Amino acid sequence: MKVGVFYGKGDIRIEERPVPEPGPGQMLVKIAYVGICGTDIEFFKDGGVPPFMKVPLVLGHENCGVVAKLGEGVTKFKVGDRVLCGPPSHCPEDCPSCKEGKTNICIHAFPRTAGLGQYDGGYAEYLLIHDVEHTTIVPVPDNVDFKDAVLFDVICVSLHGIRNSQFKFGDDVVVSGTGPIGLSAIQILKAAGANRIIALGTNSAKEPLIKSYGADYFINSKECKDLAGEIKKILGKEVGADVVYECAGNMNSLSNLVYDCVKPGGQVNVIGTIQQPMTELIPGRFSIFEPNMQFSFTYTEDEVRIYLQMSAAGKLHFPGMVTGVVSLDECVEKVFASDRKGQLKVLIDPSL
Ligand SMILES: [Zn+2]
Ligand SMILES: [Zn+2]
Repeated sequence: MKVGVFYGKGDIRIEERPVPEPGPGQMLVKIAYVGICGTDIEFFKDGGVPPFMKVPLVLGHENCGVVAKLGEGVTKFKVGDRVLCGPPSHCPEDCPSCKEGKTNICIHAFPRTAGLGQYDGGYAEYLLIHDVEHTTIVPVPDNVDFKDAVLFDVICVSLHGIRNSQFKFGDDVVVSGTGPIGLSAIQILKAAGANRIIALGTNSAKEPLIKSYGADYFINSKECKDLAGEIKKILGKEVGADVVYECAGNMNSLSNLVYDCVKPGGQVNVIGTIQQPMTELIPGRFSIFEPNMQFSFTYTEDEVRIYLQMSAAGKLHFPGMVTGVVSLDECVEKVFASDRKGQLKVLIDPSL
């Protein structure tokens, strides 16, 4: 079978490998689509990877497809089931976080994510699930397209970040960042009953899409001279928004939210992964207003089920999020090594 292997900075090779054979407790899934994640692109551009990541590695942690072969003892699924396959669901060690149901902050599980840690991922025709019992594998309802199901990774990051925040029905919110995570946060906040949703971004061409997802206002944060003033003007208040969300993954965005967008005593949520030092923030300048800062990371299997159920019921729908489907052979040229202009989420269909 064909696989996409990451070797280091600027180096992804398409190779031929034997189809893996599932052992006891394992399962083989024929990949329908695998999402190209922003982190995969970061690995390619920057070369930096988490310390627990085995390189070379077949990338791909946003997988969905059809169960192709069961290893001994696997009874939860049958051949032909439509499933999505995500990160570990909990650890066999039963750590304190997993005991509390906070499996997303399990101290053991994350490095075991296929395509990110020690196991090969889904940039392949077939994905071997190493430990079915401890992996997020959720049946995809018949009326949910694989192209929607495979968005679970970005959408559940936002879903979890919002569930983990102090947001309440009727709150005014600011979402900074209008990539897949920011866009999904906007739609989830709209569904959750936000009062006014202000989106901050740097690309005004995206304004119609951002508004179609549920933002009431869009501010180009690069062009706006007085962000704090603009927010207060929109809200008609002397203070900023109740809850704000960092979804752009950079310090500029976080600084804007902390200094200019959140009300005294409000909450700043960091959902995006920021790989920059926080040296730009001077706590003395904003701690006088006692903002609360909350960090969120990934999601739980329950949250994946919530997404699929709400998607099946038509309550969450992300048209326009998938901007392309490419083959393994095309993925480097069309995505990793391209300028990615106009791209949001690009999927690989390994059968192409
Ligand atoms: Zn991802
Ligand atoms: Zn655990």
